Amino acid sequence: MNEYIKSLKNQGKLNISIDKTKKFNWKYTKIAGPCSVEGPDIIDIALSIKQLGANAFRAGAYKPCTYPILKETKGWKEGLRNEGLKLLKMVKDVTGLPIVTEVMDASMIDKVGEVADVFQIGTRNFQNYTLLDALGKTNKPILLKRGTWGTIDEILGACERILVGGNDNIAICLRGVVGMPNYRHVFPSIRWAPDLMMIPALKELTNIPIIYDPSHSTGYRNFVKPISRAAIAAGANGLIIECHPKPEKSISDADQAIDYSTLDEIFNQLTFINMKQ
Ligand code: PEP
Ligand code: MN
Repeated sequence: MNEYIKSLKNQGKLNISIDKTKKFNWKYTKIAGPCSVEGPDIIDIALSIKQLGANAFRAGAYKPCTYPILKETKGWKEGLRNEGLKLLKMVKDVTGLPIVTEVMDASMIDKVGEVADVFQIGTRNFQNYTLLDALGKTNKPILLKRGTWGTIDEILGACERILVGGNDNIAICLRGVVGMPNYRHVFPSIRWAPDLMMIPALKELTNIPIIYDPSHSTGYRNFVKPISRAAIAAGANGLIIECHPKPEKSISDADQAIDYSTLDEIFNQLTFINMKQ
């Protein structure tokens, strides 16, 4: 075994218990919501998604877009930003669901933290050490999305940055990695390769919870259900899924958003091996 991982093990850093007494319990987590907050109808969307069995709501107020200039519409510019946070606060008050939302920069932790119950670290910030160190000093749960390039020891290294700050309420989110050029001429929205083998690989080394993201890892809505099923079968502790009442109308990530009935099938009709409520 690699020396770095051996030393993490010896220090007990990889043996995090999923503590049910903690405010946010990562076990059997079903997180869903649209890619981003698009407007006041987010409240109705959240109520519907709660009805379908989600136990946490996701939506970005601040969105790091790969092609930002192509994505400006009706006040939405890389998200609704502050307006989006206010709407998420209303979602939380009305539905009672914990809010999972991205914090893009260390300077925004206090502001986003007024609303977020779980800080999402986006794939692009996977090795932003200023952000990771600062989040390690907070006491809120962290969903660390794997960088699209992240190796297994880099994933554990990024976790360690947060852990050494004192925050051990973390989960790793696998969301697809580079290396899918052979699909794009037929399925143009596919950008990443599902990283399913990383689930058992990490499970062998650590009991940090693993949340799987079948939306970004496939990039194509028809593949979200089969890859959700595969991730759960492989041992994921939960799923984070992009869902929208009119998927094709989503401002961001429209091709991978699923509709309510597909979310219902995933949350309520799949046989979850590890994921009973
Ligand atoms: C998201 O969850 O909407 C998102 C931007 O994800 P990622 O950082 O994995 O691209
Ligand atoms: Mn998205």
